[in-house]
Amino acid sequence: MKELICIVCPRGCHLKVDENDDYKVTGHRCARGVLYGYQEMTAPTRVVTSTVVLENAGEERCPVRTSQAVPKAKMFEVIDIVRKLKISAPVSLGQVLVPDIAGSGADLIATRSFSGTGN
Ligand code: SF4
Repeated sequence: MKELICIVCPRGCHLKVDENDDYKVTGHRCARGVLYGYQEMTAPTRVVTSTVVLENAGEERCPVRTSQAVPKAKMFEVIDIVRKLKISAPVSLGQVLVPDIAGSGADLIATRSFSGTGN
């Protein structure tokens, strides 16, 4: 039996997942917790949020995130690409900066717009 805290919403339910009973989840207050507990034990994923170097905007960094959760096994590769990435304004909210980042199936997108009036 594995104990986890559900991070899907701020209620933070204390889940128990029984790997000997087909990953049966208990302790959840809603169905999203069942899915989270199952996925966390079988194929854990995370949305990656970070910032990248930004030029021509008057600010130095642009906040970014992956468009969906990526497998934990791909996270270091994703973070390495993010760390080396440089972009230049203008940038639009939701703009895809790196499609299918690290072959994860998720795109890296900007989470803020910059007009490109800096310098
Ligand atoms: S099980 Fe449901 S209510 Fe509990 S933390 Fe997860 S999402 Fe929130």
